[in-house]
Amino acid sequence: MAWVIDIHTHMWDYGWLPEPHKMNMAIRAAKRRRPPVDPMTIRPRVGNGFMDPSGNLNVKILDRLGMDMGVIQVVDWAIGYGVEADNTIDEINAGTAQAVRNHPDRLMWFCGIDPRRPGAAEKFERWVKEDGAKGFKLYPPMGYYPWDDCVKPIIEKAIELDVPILSHTQAGVSWCEPIHWGQVCRQYPDLKVILGHAGVESPFFSTYGWEQAVIVAARHENVYLDPTEWHLWGALKDVPELIRRIHVMKTNVGAEKVVNGTDNPLGRDGADNGDGEWMFIWRNLPTIGRWFGYTFTQEDVDLMLGENAARLLKLPPKEQARQAAAGA
Ligand SMILES: [Zn+2]
Repeated sequence: MAWVIDIHTHMWDYGWLPEPHKMNMAIRAAKRRRPPVDPMTIRPRVGNGFMDPSGNLNVKILDRLGMDMGVIQVVDWAIGYGVEADNTIDEINAGTAQAVRNHPDRLMWFCGIDPRRPGAAEKFERWVKEDGAKGFKLYPPMGYYPWDDCVKPIIEKAIELDVPILSHTQAGVSWCEPIHWGQVCRQYPDLKVILGHAGVESPFFSTYGWEQAVIVAARHENVYLDPTEWHLWGALKDVPELIRRIHVMKTNVGAEKVVNGTDNPLGRDGADNGDGEWMFIWRNLPTIGRWFGYTFTQEDVDLMLGENAARLLKLPPKEQARQAAAGA
């Protein structure tokens, strides 16, 4: 029995997002309306259906997708926006830790703090040692490169604690293009890095960010690829290209270095937003791959859908965890 783990989920509450972020969400939603509407009419409703500081929504989505566990990633937006959220970053991390305590057999978490905040590395250590964080979420689009001096204490702490960093990576925003991890990993070969979104987050047809991610992960032993959220950016409309990319990752990086996730909650009240089809494709790669001339084994699927994440996060084998939970 193999683990099925969502390495990349989120959890939100109204006080966790700085005002400009909520306004951006309203502007994006307003533009999608036909005819477009005034964003101010949408702003009061921003976040409805997505806010859940209890973690219950995350568990509901895991159940819908038949997944065992999800890993909540904390994002610190405030310095990038120049405005603090209503809640402090300490409160946001503490709230996430509490949700994980509510659901210890379903949720895990990566703490997150802008590395430019004073004492960031010390807080990282405390969240791991005292609150059970399994890793660190880095969000370079807020205005720093992975190789900037401000990130070094976080990197060194991650190595010392032997936990991974999951970094948001994407094409088109210089700070978070995956190629920047190449020089970091050369300097810190023991650092475990998960390249979030595997360099995509632009229309799916573009490949350069993703190719950078593949190159960095192929070169450096401790770099993993996380193709989270591709299902929202066009991957489901170009399944042959998706299958080709998964096969390129498998053959050049290795099935043992691909992890999977959804970036949920993305649908209102946890509704399916394409993630059901996304998981269907990954689960059925041996069959669907064959239609397009690519070979995938059940072992590849098991590794990519959860066993790699379990190894990285030091979980016991699933059988053992189930027995322990039943006996407790
Ligand atoms: Zn994310």
